[in-house]
Amino acid sequence: MWAGADAAVQGDGATVRPVSHPTPPAALLPDVLPARARVVVIGGGVGGTSVAYHLAEAGERDVVLLERSELTSGSTFHSAGLVGQLRADPTLTRMNMYSVELYRRLQAADTPPGWTESGSIKLASTPQRLEEIRRQLAWAEVFGLPLVEISPAEAAERFPLMDPTGVVGACFLPSDGSIDPSSLTQALAAGARAGGVRVVERTRVLGIDTEVVARRPRVRRVRTDAGDVECEVVVDCGGMFAAQIARMVGVRVPIVPMAHQYLVTGPILGPILGSKKGSNRGSILGPNLGSSTEHGDRVVMPSLRDPDLLVYYRQEVDALVMGGYERHPAPWAATAASFDEIPADFNGRLLPADWERMEEIMTNSQLRVPAMADAPVRSIINGPEAFTPDNEFCLGETPVGGFFVAAGFCAHGIAGAGGIGKVMASWILDGDPGLDLWHMDVTRFGPAYASPSYTLARTLETYRTYYDIAYPGRERASARPLRTSPVYRWHAEQGAVMGEKAGWERVNYYASNDPDGRVDLTPAGWAARLFSPAVEAEHRAGRESVGLFDETSFAKLLISGPRAAAFLEWVCDNRVARGTGDITYTQLLNARGGIEADLTVTGVGEEEFFLVTGTAYGSHDAAWLRRQAAVVAPDGTARWQPGVRIEDVTGQYVCFALWGPRARDVLAGLTPADVADAAFPFMTAQEITVADVPVRALRVTFVGELGWELYASSEYGMALWSALWRAGQPFGMRACGYRAIESMRLEKGYRVWSADVTPETTPFEAGLGFCVKLDKPGGFLGADALRAAKAAGRSRGLACLVLDGPATPGEAPAVVLGGEPVRADGAVAGQVTSGGYGFTVQASIAYAYLPIALLAPGTRVEVNLFGTWAGAQVVKGPLLDPAGKRLRG
Ligand SMILES: Cc1cc2nc3c(=O)[nH]c(=O)nc-3n(C[C@H](O)[C@H](O)[C@H](O)COP(=O)(O)OP(=O)(O)OC[C@H]3O[C@@H](n4cnc5c(N)ncnc54)[C@H](O)[C@@H]3O)c2cc1C
Repeated sequence: MWAGADAAVQGDGATVRPVSHPTPPAALLPDVLPARARVVVIGGGVGGTSVAYHLAEAGERDVVLLERSELTSGSTFHSAGLVGQLRADPTLTRMNMYSVELYRRLQAADTPPGWTESGSIKLASTPQRLEEIRRQLAWAEVFGLPLVEISPAEAAERFPLMDPTGVVGACFLPSDGSIDPSSLTQALAAGARAGGVRVVERTRVLGIDTEVVARRPRVRRVRTDAGDVECEVVVDCGGMFAAQIARMVGVRVPIVPMAHQYLVTGPILGPILGSKKGSNRGSILGPNLGSSTEHGDRVVMPSLRDPDLLVYYRQEVDALVMGGYERHPAPWAATAASFDEIPADFNGRLLPADWERMEEIMTNSQLRVPAMADAPVRSIINGPEAFTPDNEFCLGETPVGGFFVAAGFCAHGIAGAGGIGKVMASWILDGDPGLDLWHMDVTRFGPAYASPSYTLARTLETYRTYYDIAYPGRERASARPLRTSPVYRWHAEQGAVMGEKAGWERVNYYASNDPDGRVDLTPAGWAARLFSPAVEAEHRAGRESVGLFDETSFAKLLISGPRAAAFLEWVCDNRVARGTGDITYTQLLNARGGIEADLTVTGVGEEEFFLVTGTAYGSHDAAWLRRQAAVVAPDGTARWQPGVRIEDVTGQYVCFALWGPRARDVLAGLTPADVADAAFPFMTAQEITVADVPVRALRVTFVGELGWELYASSEYGMALWSALWRAGQPFGMRACGYRAIESMRLEKGYRVWSADVTPETTPFEAGLGFCVKLDKPGGFLGADALRAAKAAGRSRGLACLVLDGPATPGEAPAVVLGGEPVRADGAVAGQVTSGGYGFTVQASIAYAYLPIALLAPGTRVEVNLFGTWAGAQVVKGPLLDPAGKRLRG
């Protein structure tokens, strides 16, 4: 477990540094501006001080932290200070767990930050919310979090002001708590100073100079109102000012300052606290705190969240703090027409109380805690906070070398600060955060976020739906449509039900196919939300006749230049520069052998390679490749530049996939090219014409069937689609969507990056060892780690599981959604990476990393579905066509 006590071991075997206070140098350095420092951290909030603390702890002492005003004068000082750990994202949960570990330690040290481990309660006021809680209870088991389900009556006993009317269930996590944000910041700053960091207040960064190294801009110098600092690394910890700071180097960080508020009541807890002292104390505090002496005689209730009513409460001595996420949020100092313009003197300040906006949650708060109706309001705290368009942090290195960002904490920066500081220190010093941070990586945002109005629309939607149940596959509604295929109108006319990814409108399925699909396969529970009989009909067409899929949204990169081949051989684990027309499936690895990207490389010219990756990963993968292309050796020589060009050409091409046993028949009728297996083998590409359209045809598949992906310049898109559609009719062609692809790829065992394969998994663990060419001349990035992993032997592997069928014929099949714990012999052994229903193999499929001892086919395991353990069996994958006969045609 990454978040743990002393030295902890990650899943991939890498050891994480022990948590400790930085070793004090002989004397504290004076807090004056140095002329140079290796690392400049901008921002003296909880984010900046935590990054500085962890850099020092990791041994990096050449660090200066610059704060334009005083420490903790940004969003940090007006935070409500709640620290919750469990999140939908496993990585963030591990980071938050580490925060708690750190805060406990700081509390026991010289400058205690007021850590109060009071626990937290989450209520369910609807059956769906209770289902969500049961799903979270299962996740907590994976992390070893002591989350327990409690009854509404128990919740009311622990939080005596609560009216349990309408509450259908609850859960309690004793190790959550709260902290004084300003004291935490001061404690982290003190630790950083003790480790050798200079903390320089009242020093404003005015500009950042860059120079071009290996064709990539790199930070060189920070200019302040007190002088310049030469540096190698800048960390933008500017909170809601982070976007403004990033603009100094021409980088877009899509952060919107949002007015966020809570109120503090006058004293209302006196009678309860009095009556609960003594004999009842344990029942309020729970077993964890009942024995604690840290709080002395102070009685502390757990915090309480009722997301269905949009509110939370926390005890503040004898009063309550009450806040929430209203449905009508208010951006501050940012509009749809302009980037954020925060006043230059906005430090240590709040916004005027917005009673009108507060009304909705005030009214709701009285439903759950009736005492709120008569409680005097001592103050309303209305402070701006940095929110992002997807409610995830912005972390990591930007396209400007050495310019890192750690901001956009979306009102959970206090909970996250410990973990954020720790991953950022690893990222800066080792070039790798050590965890799968894809959801938080600042490079995930595509170019559309350059638009203030797009960013604002998405951020507002995120804020107003903050407490909504996060159903897997939930679609965004704002700022759509934005990116569309030339066939978009045709799809709409056919009744396409669209989903959205990276701004692209994509067909999930066509409602017009509904009548031809099987209703009886509608899965039980939440998985039914993602189902339509059309998905089954489309799947069947792809397996039995031919399906036509619009995959125009696939991200496409062109890598060219005299060093392109050598560069790609270095970053790919497979042999990729094999000649024009050859297609290779490969992974890009980090130095730990973890998978940073999973894609195909096609040679399309002497010095040109065409890379195709998932819709959502284009910006991320391009940023990662550009970073590698700009690597400079210790002697200052650029390894690859000049000589490698990387272009994102996604929008230039449509991509239509023609997959199914009759795919060749359809294509043969439209092209003069010979498409027989001998003339056009699997995993090769040719430039051909299809119905008068010049097409780059790639004989590849992501569904396990014979077929081609046809790439054509976008203006030909509609003509090409129409021709394929007409030609396909005699062969039973159906237009198909992404849900059918998902079901088909699960049967064939194709991996999806960010779920089945991540920076924390190696190709050997993922069953992709066939891609690894350890003996290739010149080696490749990550090869040393893979060699070591091979010598040590696998400790786990990606298992294919089949869930037991329904006990009664006709009953709805149980289908996983991802994230479910898997146990064997009563002990949790792994977590589902992805899964769904395979309509051809007629099985509910799930993938999970399991210890090697459990990988033998036939091993019985159990999968937790909303609190119930369902039986499953490890099977030998892939379930469909293990010999690959179908895709060879
Ligand atoms: C009302 C409210 C309630 C909240 N409640 C919670 C909660 O219960 N739990 C939780 O986890 N989180 C909560 N948060 C969120 C949390 O407070 C923030 O996520 C966190 O404090 C942000 O820290 P930061 O370091 O990123 O930003 P900040 O604290 O804003 O620090 C950024 C610093 O950068 C400095 N700076 C900016 N520009 C420059 C420059 N050019 N040169 C030098 N310095 C510069 C600023 O002066 C500022 O001090 C809440 C936030 C609000 C507003």
